[in-house]
Amino acid sequence: MPIEIQLRIIADDNSVISEGEILHLDKGDDRLEVVGLAFDEAKAIMAGIQGGVVTAQAASFLARHRSCDLCGSQLLSKGSGRTQFRTAFGTIALSSPRFHRCRCQPKAAWTFSPLNLLLTEHIAPELLYLETRWASLVSYGMTADLLKDVLPVGGAANASTIRRHLHKVAARHEADLSGDQPGGHDEDSVNGQPLLRAAVIVGIDGGYVRNWHDKKHNFEVVVGKCMAADRVTAPSALSRARMSSPGAASARFCALRTCR
Ligand SMILES: [Zn+2]
Repeated sequence: MPIEIQLRIIADDNSVISEGEILHLDKGDDRLEVVGLAFDEAKAIMAGIQGGVVTAQAASFLARHRSCDLCGSQLLSKGSGRTQFRTAFGTIALSSPRFHRCRCQPKAAWTFSPLNLLLTEHIAPELLYLETRWASLVSYGMTADLLKDVLPVGGAANASTIRRHLHKVAARHEADLSGDQPGGHDEDSVNGQPLLRAAVIVGIDGGYVRNWHDKKHNFEVVVGKCMAADRVTAPSALSRARMSSPGAASARFCALRTCR
């Protein structure tokens, strides 16, 4: 059964910006394994659509920024360039021309690439979210493998890249928190005590140890280590006995307050 996946992008005036085939499939219908899309087929379709959509968006943005914002003069070209934008649905290579700034504008720099105004990061926020979310739960390597299994992220997803991205996000959160007024409190609390707004919540591993003889009782163990750059710290281990149902015997992540 031949199946064609096509993408057609239309401008506001109904003119066709681009159209073409994303993928041609020749699907059978005689085995369970061929029913529906396979991972590779779905990834190829997502990558094809993403490439077409992002390319059209970038071209539309560039078309609006080829002239001066103030006087409307056409900007002089300084040359062509290329850039890449990493998304959860593939890495898109884009043309990124460079222009001279208009004479009517103050010149912090003589030339600029308009696409840098749109792509302030070379990675899509959603991909960054997925990387940091999963890397906070499992290892960097497993996160890369998971993303590569289900998304067309290619070889760009690897442990060292994900680790670097997670640290960057963490540093950004630290900077945001340091801007808060000391003494403020969040609505959340731990053991009934309100949290300092500047406190960082760190997800550390923990779990329940079930009483072998009395299956209705278990012991919750939470282990963490607080590190702060400006003071001596020591590993901390929190544990508490807790009555709970046997169904709660699975390991889980627990929240600790850092020693700030
Ligand atoms: Zn101008």
